[in-house]
Amino acid sequence: MKKNPLKYLLLIVAFAVLQSVPANNRSEAKQDDSLVSLVVIDPGHGGIDSGTSSGDVEEKDIVLDIALKLGNYIERTFPEIEVIYTRKTDVFIPVYRRAEIANKADADLFISIHANAVDYKYVHGTETFVLGQHSSEDNLQVAKKENSVILLEDDYTTTYEGFDPNSSESYIMFELVQDEYKEQSISLANAIQNEFRLRTKRKDRSVKEAGFLVLRQIAMPGVLVETGFLSNASERDFLNSNNGRDQIALAIFSAFEAYKTNVEQKSSFHLVTDDETPQPIEKVATGANVTPATTPGSAEKSAGEEDLFYSVQIMALKQKIETTPENFNGLDNVFRIDSPGISRYFVGKYSSLENAEINKELLLVRYESAFVVAFKNNELISLKKLQENKN
Ligand SMILES: [Zn+2]
Repeated sequence: MKKNPLKYLLLIVAFAVLQSVPANNRSEAKQDDSLVSLVVIDPGHGGIDSGTSSGDVEEKDIVLDIALKLGNYIERTFPEIEVIYTRKTDVFIPVYRRAEIANKADADLFISIHANAVDYKYVHGTETFVLGQHSSEDNLQVAKKENSVILLEDDYTTTYEGFDPNSSESYIMFELVQDEYKEQSISLANAIQNEFRLRTKRKDRSVKEAGFLVLRQIAMPGVLVETGFLSNASERDFLNSNNGRDQIALAIFSAFEAYKTNVEQKSSFHLVTDDETPQPIEKVATGANVTPATTPGSAEKSAGEEDLFYSVQIMALKQKIETTPENFNGLDNVFRIDSPGISRYFVGKYSSLENAEINKELLLVRYESAFVVAFKNNELISLKKLQENKN
């Protein structure tokens, strides 16, 4: 470790080490395991399996459209990322096949999309599941409901080794599951719920754990998103509207973007701290009143890094908002970059990654999915790519 008088930085480094991406044992054929380069999107149900329904609104149709919209956002924003869908049309896909598609492709991430329904019509909100042991009867019921689709498969007893989706005893096996990707899955799940709550104004029923067969069978981080209750009239209308489904897809996309950046940044951050002396911090704000460390355009240039600076992305929206302080909690150093269909908002320009990291920590108070980015020659580049270029 190098000498460093800045306790903030040490804290952040310690945090980054603790949170670092666990080594995984996936195919070595993949060029760089620390990149999120292949995503499998899994719209639940399909074909003879409608999922849950309310009137003529069927889960299989709602979740397919959300999945396609989500994939479209990812492909448009990150052309280098490959998106694979477990289905793109109204067809029946067995649960084991969904996991098989993701495993064979050696995917970096698995996102399963569903909608819910219960007997009580007032129940509403979104919840995102990771694989684990249910902590309540409600969570077990969701898993039973989603897993029961295997009853439509031929020979499900053999395929799932005697697993009975409707028997509570079957779920005891999930107590024993060792999921090496759990931390990453939870971080994506948290980001999704944050986006739903803050951006889409959905009721947050939180991140939960339960025994979903499809998550049990994948060999990568994965989540199962319940996008709302078709049994609740206003939520059904929301999900049945094109705008509602688009908002849900955009929220999941924004969470994905934050997740991707954080995963890739954690792996590159170590490299940077190993061979770079930290720059002095210009100014560190305290408390919730976030003050920028530097103002836009004032990024100091370090030798040999002519047009490189770091910034903090705080959000991505379809709308173009004026970057005035009154629109951003008093921040006077917000700038915006527009791409087709999406505008991203950044705070500050920092000459060192460390300063950007510290300001990100402060910005997280108000912008829960803030993350650090880099710009080279005024183009947004991933921190990972930047590190590769340096080496
Ligand atoms: Zn479902």
